[in-house]
Amino acid sequence: MSLAKQLYQLQGLELEIEAKEQALAQTIRQLDNDKVVAEAKASLASEQQRLGELQHQQRAAEWEIDDLGTRLATAGEALYSGRIRNPKELTNLQHELTGLKAKRNQLEEKALETMSQAELTQEIVTGTVNELKTLETEWQNQQQQLAVEIEQLKTALLGLKDKRQLAAAEIEPEAIELYQEIKRQKGAAVAKVEQGICRACRIQLPVTELQSTRSGGLVRCSSCRRILFLP
Ligand SMILES: [Zn+2]
Repeated sequence: MSLAKQLYQLQGLELEIEAKEQALAQTIRQLDNDKVVAEAKASLASEQQRLGELQHQQRAAEWEIDDLGTRLATAGEALYSGRIRNPKELTNLQHELTGLKAKRNQLEEKALETMSQAELTQEIVTGTVNELKTLETEWQNQQQQLAVEIEQLKTALLGLKDKRQLAAAEIEPEAIELYQEIKRQKGAAVAKVEQGICRACRIQLPVTELQSTRSGGLVRCSSCRRILFLP
């Protein structure tokens, strides 16, 4: 195998290792990320709080209606008892009764509205509880799947790193040194030659360079200085 081919294969392994390492990091980030579940929990908590407030308002309105009922009964009883004969007092009492009735109607309307809002909020709460259950189940399944993926990636990485180690051991140290130096500068040290063109910088290579590459020597692209590999 030519030196260029050995280095090209080494590069391929290193790229594969890099891609797997990125995938592993991304998968680890996904693990334990329960943002969606946490959001559903927060939304449920605020809906439950709203429901509590509405129920409290409803109870307060009912107490007030009861209280008004008692006052209405007392005023009504006084009005029709015949005890009060003074016309002014009677008129005042009648006014009081009318006022209390109006207030009670108003409160009853308000209580009805609060009740219907509470019912609606209760439906939303029930819906969110179910949604949260589904999300939690999905999240647990996803966690298991991610854990499996992480193990697979780790195993694949170990294998690839072994392979890279073996491939690097076969190559003479000077070539490795050159390869590392170009890699540091360019990101990728070896460029494939296709149809007489360096695939890294896309320049048409001079015939002499192509001939040297073909003869198996370590040739660098005159333009981008990468090591040329002719398949
Ligand atoms: Zn080039």
